[in-house]
Amino acid sequence: MNTYGTSAICPCCGKTLYTSNIPKYSFVCKDCNKNFYTKEVKDTFAEYWDEVTESTKQLWEINIPVAKENQEKMVFKWKELAKKYHCDFLGFDMIYNRVEIDIGWENGFPECDILNQIIKDIEKQRGES
Ligand SMILES: [Zn+2]
Repeated sequence: MNTYGTSAICPCCGKTLYTSNIPKYSFVCKDCNKNFYTKEVKDTFAEYWDEVTESTKQLWEINIPVAKENQEKMVFKWKELAKKYHCDFLGFDMIYNRVEIDIGWENGFPECDILNQIIKDIEKQRGES
């Protein structure tokens, strides 16, 4: 299983967290080599944003790189996935010859069980051509 970049930050070092590839955990910090639960990350992130500005709209997202030729055929499927997991946001960013799909929620990341399932679905979807 791959790990995907997220908008969450590590409670220990402040760097980007990735989705964990260890079941029952939500996130992993590649610098600290530590895994985290959704709740631990939510708390830190909320504190962080309070410091920055209270009016900043939080968006909790996962960034998924996909091959460009793949993506065009798959837009519908990504929309289905976003709907299935009640995402508030689905975006497509062109970066050179690949596409990054950003999928996210306004009120925080789901708990690890759901997050694990989302990643499984994402892996399935990326594997198709
Ligand atoms: Zn860290």
